[in-house]
Amino acid sequence: MKYKKVTQPDLWTSLFVTFLTTGFVLLFLATQVNASSTPNRVQLPLPELDTPSDNASQEHNDEEWQELAVNIRKNGSLGEALNRLKISPATTHAITQLKNSRLLTNLRAGDKLHVWVDKHHNLQKILYPKSQTLSYELINTDEGYRLLEKKAPVEIRTETATGVIEGAFYIAAKKAGLSARSIMNLSDIFAWDVDFSRELQAGDTFKVIYETKYLKGKYIGDGSILAAQITSNNQKQVHNAFIVRENGKTIGYYDKKGRNLKKAFLRSPVDYVRITSKYNPKRFHPVLKRTRPHRGVDYGGPKGTPIRATGDGKIIFRGWGKGYGRHIKIKHAGKYTTLYAHLSKYSKFKKGNYVKQGDIIGYMGDTGMVTGVHLHYEFRVNNKHVDPLKVKFPDAEPLAKKYRAEFNKTSTFLLAQLNRLDSRTKVAQGFE
Ligand SMILES: [Zn+2]
Repeated sequence: MKYKKVTQPDLWTSLFVTFLTTGFVLLFLATQVNASSTPNRVQLPLPELDTPSDNASQEHNDEEWQELAVNIRKNGSLGEALNRLKISPATTHAITQLKNSRLLTNLRAGDKLHVWVDKHHNLQKILYPKSQTLSYELINTDEGYRLLEKKAPVEIRTETATGVIEGAFYIAAKKAGLSARSIMNLSDIFAWDVDFSRELQAGDTFKVIYETKYLKGKYIGDGSILAAQITSNNQKQVHNAFIVRENGKTIGYYDKKGRNLKKAFLRSPVDYVRITSKYNPKRFHPVLKRTRPHRGVDYGGPKGTPIRATGDGKIIFRGWGKGYGRHIKIKHAGKYTTLYAHLSKYSKFKKGNYVKQGDIIGYMGDTGMVTGVHLHYEFRVNNKHVDPLKVKFPDAEPLAKKYRAEFNKTSTFLLAQLNRLDSRTKVAQGFE
């Protein structure tokens, strides 16, 4: 609140510059790291994918290099492609022995490699453009081959999008200029607070401040959402989200008080759910043909539907139970445990492993005492069953103390920016 009193534009500018430069500095550093990882002897061209051959041959004035191009065939491999270029299997072998050889061996049909050989047909360089912004480069040095990662300098811009919901949120967001990816991110950010299919009504509004990525002045995609505001239930509720990140990695999204927008548990362990049987202490059991309490929620879906851990925790049981069939029990922080039953199979996580919220722990099936394929999900507090659809979940970890001061500055600034945006303007406004 202290900041609210000082409204000189200079402060905003400096705060925002601080906020942005963190990102730019990192980007700059990333570029520098790439440059310095290049040995001095071999002056490699910058990741200008268009004309790498000219530079390369200039640097190697005495040796004439020849550039060859090769496509990876269906069921092909690096070895097979190099073999077609008459490069020896010993060379391929040397590449596969590199620590990070995976970068070059993880190829897919249709991938194109640029290959340079000297006049003795020895492999000198491979350039593998992985994406618009990332390429892998193999070079021949005195100490043997080296495989480097090259990132193109991406320019990050900040843009805004605003809109009023008329029908579906997706359509309004698309109209406002957000990419499908950003729209999905937005619904992920607010997933715990807003039911996008039921709680957003005509007249509700959204405002988003987000990053866009440019390569050589050309838009290549949306980046992170920095801040967002959305109203729900006919504008009765206002939800805010502000990003926190460290070293380019997103820590999470928090409201203006620093509360995590995530909850400690997902409402449901499966996506696109159909609830087939609710929590019911007096249910008539379809197999046992007698009253037996149903102490969980059943979710219907096709066999093999992935099942997610609803919260961070440790797998304390993975195995067979007479009624449960294949099932998993997870112990979470504090007093919570969850159970997932009738699985067709497990994922890679075993008893004793720690899982993160959203990790796939198994797949829907019909093992144990069942009449058909479904997931039986239980939620216990202090080892007592509760209704997973009604229990009030604890908040996920609040913002760590070390981020607080910075967060207060940036969120105050971003909130002011959000408030300045007019959601009734059809055209997205410039970020000032
Ligand atoms: Zn059940």
